[in-house]
Amino acid sequence: MSGSVTVVGLGPGDPSLLTESARRALDAATDLIGYFPYVARVPERDGLVRHASDNRVEVDRARHALSLAAAGQHVAVVSGGDPGVFAMASAVFEAVEHGEPGWRDLAITVEPGITAMLAAAARLGAPLGGDFCAMSLSDNLKPWPVVTARLEAVLRADFVIALYNPISSARPWQLGAALELAAGIRPPETPVMFARAISRPDEAIRVTTLAEAPSAPADMATMVILGASGTRLIPREGKAPFVYTLRSVPGAA
Ligand code: SAH
Repeated sequence: MSGSVTVVGLGPGDPSLLTESARRALDAATDLIGYFPYVARVPERDGLVRHASDNRVEVDRARHALSLAAAGQHVAVVSGGDPGVFAMASAVFEAVEHGEPGWRDLAITVEPGITAMLAAAARLGAPLGGDFCAMSLSDNLKPWPVVTARLEAVLRADFVIALYNPISSARPWQLGAALELAAGIRPPETPVMFARAISRPDEAIRVTTLAEAPSAPADMATMVILGASGTRLIPREGKAPFVYTLRSVPGAA
């Protein structure tokens, strides 16, 4: 089999945040597969067949990519941000594990991208400067009690928490429930950051507190970062404050 699959991270939005290596992988592709807003980010060119889908079943999309590669095509599967963070790379490997034995011999590579939490953190200052974790708040692929059990554990462990997929029209109440859980564990003045559409023309950032967070607007393009005990704000006149998390923890030598 001479075809290939490259799972490409497109970064948070702005083309300048796409890696050189990812750009080369897109240039070498014969076929482009992905959710249509991501496919739309890749310029059209002769020799590139676009297979945009609104199909939410990611493993079906991955199987499609693998069968095209098995037929000799060079397929780029695209995701926003990093393809290994709540995105297509896992789906591709899941399809390989359960699919045609010959798929294991295909050249399959992953091109990393700047994931949303890193792009958001860079805009804010350094909120991920201490120990942090990332969670998807979506209960499409895991039961809600699993989400809350994990969230409670990391809240108690004092991690900064980057919440992906905080809200959607099909999941309108989960973010409120997560903030309520956080408010029961962390103090009301804890910084909470809402970073929307980072690096895109409609970018918006709001720095608030856990007490005020339930009234902050959020949508599918928003990432929410919950501060920890070491997260600090540096207020600035007429501008959003800098946010950073201390690297040191009380009691350090
Ligand atoms: N693979 C992607 C994440 C997919 S999950 C990545 O690595 O970034 C989709 C979620 O990511 C969105 O609901 C939102 O929470 C977050 N997200 C993606 N792009 C974003 C951006 N430009 N600004 C803020 N959040 C973003």
